[in-house]
Amino acid sequence: MTEKMKAQVFFEAEKMELAEIPIPALSDADVLVKVRNCGICGSDVSYFFGLSPTDKMPIVLGHEFTGEVVEVGAIPKSMGLFKPGDRVVVNPVQNCNACYACASGHTNLCANLYVPGVNADGAFAEYAVSRYTGLFKLPDTVTYAAGAFMEPLACAVYGMKKLAIEPGQFVAIFGPGPIGIMMVQIAKAVGAGKVALIGTRDYRLNEGRKWGADYLFNTADAKSPYYVRDLKSAISDLTSGALAERAIVPTSSNEAFEQAIDVTGNAAILVHFGLPTTGDVIHVPAEATHKMDKEIRFSWLAPGVWPTTIRMISEGLLDLEPLVSRSVPLSEAGLAIRSLRAREGDPIKVQVTP
Ligand SMILES: [Zn+2]
Ligand SMILES: [Zn+2]
Repeated sequence: MTEKMKAQVFFEAEKMELAEIPIPALSDADVLVKVRNCGICGSDVSYFFGLSPTDKMPIVLGHEFTGEVVEVGAIPKSMGLFKPGDRVVVNPVQNCNACYACASGHTNLCANLYVPGVNADGAFAEYAVSRYTGLFKLPDTVTYAAGAFMEPLACAVYGMKKLAIEPGQFVAIFGPGPIGIMMVQIAKAVGAGKVALIGTRDYRLNEGRKWGADYLFNTADAKSPYYVRDLKSAISDLTSGALAERAIVPTSSNEAFEQAIDVTGNAAILVHFGLPTTGDVIHVPAEATHKMDKEIRFSWLAPGVWPTTIRMISEGLLDLEPLVSRSVPLSEAGLAIRSLRAREGDPIKVQVTP
């Protein structure tokens, strides 16, 4: 196909331009998708400002997307899997199904990951390609806007699966960003007792309350009504001294993870979720953690949880659309990324709608 489309092409740090480029050609395993909604991820912001390198440049960023099938490659076509007009959501972490990691079910650790928007052109564009194995039909009841939360939500679902909440437990969630707020909803959906949301910005903590957080704590801003100087004693008071039974940390702050170790009690499970920066080291008080028989787990991407994630949305267990603070046209993607970094208007999630 030699037809052209509009796309935001990212050349180098802070240089992204709206351009006319060819509509991507399909391999036999690909499906061409007309992009409807694409969320701006924290990682897009990092790439844009050159804080983390992309594998390919120039590149079209954007990996959290939904859309409509326009053309189907030979393989999925022969299998009758998709047809033009199908509403779809893309799992952008597309594994090869041919390496040892894939063969043992650890698809998140695939040696040949293909990720539209990260190492191949993505969805800040009118059209994007996806391998058919990374494509799911969007249930009729799920809007394109809600569907564009599927990728970050799937990561959250995987982390929460590792957290292994038992009914009634006291759960501490550190980091009230969009992921943390989704985790509040998931914790409630799977039967947590009380959920404490811990952060440093009140506008985000207030969002967390709307979605079911029972307790809010601001550990940084002494003027906040949620401010606590000593989080451990605050949580101890709420739990008759037992402390939190589960803690998950969807922020990259090492300090937050160390606090999570501090505020959890006997036999607690902790999940490290926020993406670390190269060279980060977490300090774990060995004796106390050992003698309290705690478990520390890490969560990376979202293997095996997409079907659960789709059902959680289609069954109405989570309310996602209100998390979209703003939708912008394709031409304003760069501006939107800048304003996200500057936190203008206290945004939760911004989507591009080409
Ligand atoms: Zn993302
Ligand atoms: Zn593989």
